[in-house]
Amino acid sequence: MSAPGIRWGLIGASDVAETRMIPAMRRLGHQVVGVASGSADWAATYADRNGIPASGSVADVIARDDVDAVYISSTNEHHRAHTELAAAAGKHVLCEKPLALSVEDGRAMLDACVRAGVTLATNHHLPGSGVHRTIRSLVAGGAVGRVLGVRVFHAVSLPLRLQGWRLGSRTGGGVALDITCHDASVLNPLLGALPVDVVALAASQGPWGAAAEDALMAVLRYTDGTLVQTHDAFTIAYASTGLQVLGSEGSIESSGAMDQEPIGTILLRDASGEREVEPADRRDLYDVNVSAFAAAVHGDGTPTATGLDGLRAVKVALAVRAAAESGRRVSIRD
Ligand code: NDP
Repeated sequence: MSAPGIRWGLIGASDVAETRMIPAMRRLGHQVVGVASGSADWAATYADRNGIPASGSVADVIARDDVDAVYISSTNEHHRAHTELAAAAGKHVLCEKPLALSVEDGRAMLDACVRAGVTLATNHHLPGSGVHRTIRSLVAGGAVGRVLGVRVFHAVSLPLRLQGWRLGSRTGGGVALDITCHDASVLNPLLGALPVDVVALAASQGPWGAAAEDALMAVLRYTDGTLVQTHDAFTIAYASTGLQVLGSEGSIESSGAMDQEPIGTILLRDASGEREVEPADRRDLYDVNVSAFAAAVHGDGTPTATGLDGLRAVKVALAVRAAAESGRRVSIRD
């Protein structure tokens, strides 16, 4: 049985809320009560075109008695302040990734939500997908033996409508915080640990003169010797995303694994040959997150990615960015 619905306040009149999250909330029977944005005019226009009854400032929306939880999809530099305001008002928080722009900010957000007794989750859509849940369960069941390597293919073409702050903001933009952070949300639960060492190289490949990196390759090493390679970019046209898990007894290849749609395939190769494995389900990834969050708020289970999971993903993304910027190996302590 699904959890009772939530009455949502949206902090951020964003593209992701309009294209992914409002539809998911409504499909699940939740109510979208109000929306806030940096500009009151934009919030009102957005409310009108999305059939949302109220709009106002962040403080107005958070203060509403008919808001149980907020979904924060303001630009990244506001995630901490908006989370702290919501927690102080006793509202549960589903915050977009990257959870924060520093480990210190992320910790402060976790502390604020613990102090207020509210649920904090990070809106990483990938780890809850049927494809990734199935891959994790194959790996945990020993299907590939000891995992020795993982390769993540997450190089995409940044759509025109998203070519704003991701390219223009040195602090909140760039591929590491936008995409590597998603890779980490998959790798951390898959490998059950954070990497200990990271090296990376970044480039500026696009025609846009971006303030932050728009292409990045990284290599991560784990305490047990597992090596991971990631390729994240805004600049690659017509490539499929994917994930390969390479083990001592077999391998898993998933095409489409890092997509926003539930389209990934799973191919398992081992001594007995090669076979397709059906993912656990093909539910919409954002429906999975909204329903797990609602269940957690009602005391039933945990969100797809908790606040701590979001913080751990940020740690990896920041280490990759620091390694690319410095040209040095960066170590991570969990
Ligand atoms: P948009 O640029 O479409 O929207 C960002 C929103 O933040 C705008 O409404 C903007 O309002 C608002 N904002 C900026 N400053 C403030 C402020 N001081 N107070 C209140 N609102 C403010 O962003 P995206 O949809 O592309 O991304 C939003 C977030 O979602 C990001 O954190 C991004 O990383 C994440 N994301 C996650 C995805 C996922 O699959 N999990 C996919 C895409 C994005 P205004 O224009 O009025 O300033």
